[in-house]
Amino acid sequence: ANYNAKENRYEKMKYRRCGKSGINLPMISLGLWHNFGDVDDFEKSRAILRTAFDSGITHFDLANNYGPPYGTAEKNFGKIFAEDFKQYRDELIISSKAGYDMWPGPYGNFGSRKYLIASLDQSLQRMGLDYVDVFYHHRPDPDTPLEETMGALDQIVRSGKALYVGVSNYPSDRTAKAAAILKEMGTPFLIHQPRYNMIDRWVEKDRLLDTLEKVGVGSIVFSPLQQGILTDKYLNGIPENSRAALESGHLQKNQITPEIVEQVQQLNEIAKNRNQTLAQMAVAWLLKDERVTSVLVGVSKVKQLEDNIAALDHLEFSSVELEKIESILKK
Ligand code: NDP
Repeated sequence: ANYNAKENRYEKMKYRRCGKSGINLPMISLGLWHNFGDVDDFEKSRAILRTAFDSGITHFDLANNYGPPYGTAEKNFGKIFAEDFKQYRDELIISSKAGYDMWPGPYGNFGSRKYLIASLDQSLQRMGLDYVDVFYHHRPDPDTPLEETMGALDQIVRSGKALYVGVSNYPSDRTAKAAAILKEMGTPFLIHQPRYNMIDRWVEKDRLLDTLEKVGVGSIVFSPLQQGILTDKYLNGIPENSRAALESGHLQKNQITPEIVEQVQQLNEIAKNRNQTLAQMAVAWLLKDERVTSVLVGVSKVKQLEDNIAALDHLEFSSVELEKIESILKK
């Protein structure tokens, strides 16, 4: 190993304040959903993390069941953390989550106090950490009282196992209720993690960013490239080793429809005219709203990460460009 981070790592990255908090997040963060499991190449995972940190990406996002198999992204991250990043712990924001399927039986899923507290203990053990910076409830659970789930997050902070809490995939109304409960308890509600990209616009329909602004909570948006669809990769079929081709990937081949490919082709032309890759334009498009604190990318290669970071070189859009993009996506 013997990794020493680049001295100039904070020179290029840009940071945004996360809601009304003391935390600034890099405008691009790295997610470990894919590419860090036991099915993946460990040295490649390490190279991606090093490149990220060397580029000023101070935030790594995990969850209990990332892999596959479940838990192995945290385990592999823990190994790399111990060898490469331990000395930089105070420069890092590390998050984990619980809310989806993790272990068998009634206590390894959804939103109970029982599940969340046990799951975070397991995550900390796998990662070899004393605490995470952010712990999320991963998705809304209609069958558990919100007070119970939020109470678990509060207890987690009070026990020193997380500094801040977040929710993911919560619609606007439930987010507002969660915020009220957390405020009452004095729990630091830092961040919301929704899916948001040029194709998936539920955040806009639900006015989620308005709600977050009102309650002073930041946002980090996941699948900004719609798992790779919003890049030039699928324009001529499905390449080998792409997420849609891999069995361990969550992108289904049938999501790459001819209609989507045609839209992506047209978006790619706009990106070219901006002297950007489509991936870069998709990232920049999200950051045009300042309430988007950070864009959470996944990458299978160092080169993709470098490509995505360079989106920060050109964030502005003309109104003509924005209209063209909308007219393509409306078709
Ligand atoms: P993206 O939309 O960024 O998709 C990542 C994939 O896109 C990569 O694996 C790669 O695909 C491709 N890609 C990335 N950059 C480029 C590039 N420059 N050029 C070409 N292809 C590129 O995000 P993810 O779906 O991976 O989500 C990101 C993170 O968000 C996750 O790691 C996780 O932390 C979080 N997340 C949270 C969820 C939640 O419920 N809270 C759900 C899903 C994700 P390929 O492998 O084909 O090369």
